[in-house]
Amino acid sequence: MKAAIYPGSFDPVTYGHLDIVARAADLFDKLYVAVLNNPAKSPLFSVHERIEMLSDAVSHLANVCVESFSGLVVEYARARGAIAIVRGLRAVSDFEAEFKMASMNSHLAPEIETVFMMTVSEYSFVSSSIVKEVASLGGDVRAYVPERVAVRLAERFATGSSGV
Ligand code: ADP
Repeated sequence: MKAAIYPGSFDPVTYGHLDIVARAADLFDKLYVAVLNNPAKSPLFSVHERIEMLSDAVSHLANVCVESFSGLVVEYARARGAIAIVRGLRAVSDFEAEFKMASMNSHLAPEIETVFMMTVSEYSFVSSSIVKEVASLGGDVRAYVPERVAVRLAERFATGSSGV
């Protein structure tokens, strides 16, 4: 049984993330989508809210499990018996940070491979941060995130509160 993890902030999940999840779920027997629990990043949505939105969006994929983790990604991968860390690549600008992270992780855990998947062109410009920016200004983001996420964004920006 080949398991992989797909770690990230997912604050909130976008169709770009979901495209990677669906494709990675086809490649591996089991995929753990892992929400990084890092309060230092001051996210808009709490870990609980991010897990809820992700779980809802991947409920049709039987081999995908959504959970949170903290600490080293490679330790989390080992704990799940994963052979790979999945990451998505958009523009060249993603490359440098991803290269550093993958290199460090391969030193820390040589047995775990980082697998990069290219974004599909229609979501190549979609990021959680640009979606939040547009939503905060009252823009329509339903082309980039599931309906329930768009509703949550609208609610959050209407009340002006942020998550922990
Ligand atoms: P992080 O804070 O770890 O970068 P993100 O939630 O922003 O977490 O992204 C998680 C992963 O998903 C990263 O590998 C990122 O490059 C990838 N990703 C984000 N948006 C897209 C997209 N539109 N297409 C493909 N991959 C994406």
